[in-house]
Amino acid sequence: MDMSNIRELYEEVILDHNRNPRNFMVEPEGANRHAHGYNPVCNDEFTVHLKVEDGIVTAAGFEGAGCAISTASASLMTEAVKGKTEAEVQALFRSMHELLTQEDTAGDVGKLEVLAGVHAYPMRIKCATLPWHTLHAALEQDPETATTEPA
Ligand code: ZN
Repeated sequence: MDMSNIRELYEEVILDHNRNPRNFMVEPEGANRHAHGYNPVCNDEFTVHLKVEDGIVTAAGFEGAGCAISTASASLMTEAVKGKTEAEVQALFRSMHELLTQEDTAGDVGKLEVLAGVHAYPMRIKCATLPWHTLHAALEQDPETATTEPA
């Protein structure tokens, strides 16, 4: 995909997932990994819930409140991780972090590539990365609040 196509698709996907976020206000039954994330730059705040069974993420949901970009990123993320192994989700986290912060990744992120469109709005990059940091914290079972700011 070239960058102008990504930008066009980005607008559509963000609108769609913000209007109708998937797995939103859902804590899957039996969820056993949870983390809280906060982006002070934009006041985005989410809790991510995962159900991990035999090393596979079988369900994912998120709760909280954030801007359109953080909400859409979380929505896309919860769809993308379902059915993946923990190792695959960790690899996806690293690839998405590269894509969102460096504009490119060698990893295969599938349709999530559309989130690279956030680079047209540099102030919003932390909104897009927040759900991914929170996902990472949930997998690591990190009790601290995940944040987009360096410690
Ligand atoms: Zn935001």
